[in-house]
Amino acid sequence: MPRDVCVVGAGVVGLASAVNILENIPDVRVTIIADKFSPNTTADGAAGVWLPYSLGNTPENLQRRWGETTFHHLETLLKTEESSTAGVTALPMFRISDDPIKEEYWSKTVYGYKQVPTGELVKLFPHAHTKYGEFYITLLCECRMYLPWLMRRFKEGGGKLINKRILDLQELTGRYDVIVNCTGLDARSLVADYSVQPIRGQLRRVTAPWIKHAVYDFTSECYAIPCANNTVLGGTTQHGNWNKKPNEVDSEKILKGARAIYPSLKHATLQHDWAGLRPGRPRVRLESEIRKVGGKEAKIVHNYGHGGAGVTLHWGCAQDTTALVAELLGEKVNFRKQPPSKL
Ligand SMILES: Cc1cc2nc3c(=O)[nH]c(=O)nc-3n(C[C@H](O)[C@H](O)[C@H](O)COP(=O)(O)OP(=O)(O)OC[C@H]3O[C@@H](n4cnc5c(N)ncnc54)[C@H](O)[C@@H]3O)c2cc1C
Repeated sequence: MPRDVCVVGAGVVGLASAVNILENIPDVRVTIIADKFSPNTTADGAAGVWLPYSLGNTPENLQRRWGETTFHHLETLLKTEESSTAGVTALPMFRISDDPIKEEYWSKTVYGYKQVPTGELVKLFPHAHTKYGEFYITLLCECRMYLPWLMRRFKEGGGKLINKRILDLQELTGRYDVIVNCTGLDARSLVADYSVQPIRGQLRRVTAPWIKHAVYDFTSECYAIPCANNTVLGGTTQHGNWNKKPNEVDSEKILKGARAIYPSLKHATLQHDWAGLRPGRPRVRLESEIRKVGGKEAKIVHNYGHGGAGVTLHWGCAQDTTALVAELLGEKVNFRKQPPSKL
């Protein structure tokens, strides 16, 4: 008899979890329940650079495990005909600063990591902060394309969708064998986890097709990231700020910092400003829980709190979520290696 799993949340974390559960656990029916779908989720607004960021005290071994799995998943996609529809590309990137930049654990995951001498940086970015710098090629996963691509994969596998806001887990107990909680920042209200806090980020999308390299300036906290149809300029990292409206002060700061990197951005045309809330938490929550809800036993797997790196970790977290769901169902899980060839 097929078992029923519901995933609450259709952001990059929820959708990836739903696809992995559907494709890798035998005999399950999977339903996604969410009040927001692409293009209205957090990752739709984000640039989508593979870069572990704002992850609190999430242990390095877990960041590494989830991050590397995700990198290899995206790398596999990159080598297929699907990469353009899925929004996955390779992204050359400089990170510069007036203070020393520590080489991070993930420098071995990205391609061609190297420290760049000041002399070279000054030639390239004479108006930015260039005492120290590094260069590497990472991956870009543009969720405005990637999420619809994943959604097609979910629907073709027989997945179901319900557009609804869940106010209490009691609405789901008794109906589903396992509930997967991928509600991001809203886990705060759904499961009363007050350690979840917004980390506000504002950015601006402009038309500037001549920008070919991403640059992140640590000293000004500003960046420019070339995407398929625009260039993303950022950014802000404001802890505890719930305001989803872009404001002039942040726009000015972003523009000033981005023009210091690339003065030619003076001629870029504005597409739109956007502000989003990263689901901050002292550490990512990925664990199972059996709790009594309204007198009934609810089997839950939590997968939320990915801060500024939900895109970077999504596939690895989805695989661990799938393993936990399988365990609760008493099933074994064998991960399929490749995306389905027909997609
Ligand atoms: C400015 C900015 C730039 C960023 N850049 C990057 C980047 O370059 N790389 C990177 O890796 N990450 C980046 N991030 C972080 C990344 O976007 C997030 O970590 C990620 O999108 C979180 O995904 P999520 O699925 O957990 O949450 P969300 O996208 O917020 O999705 C939550 C889902 O849960 C649903 N939901 C919540 N509560 C309920 C409920 N009660 N009932 C029904 N449905 C519910 C919502 O409708 C939604 O579908 C950035 C974020 C911001 C703001």
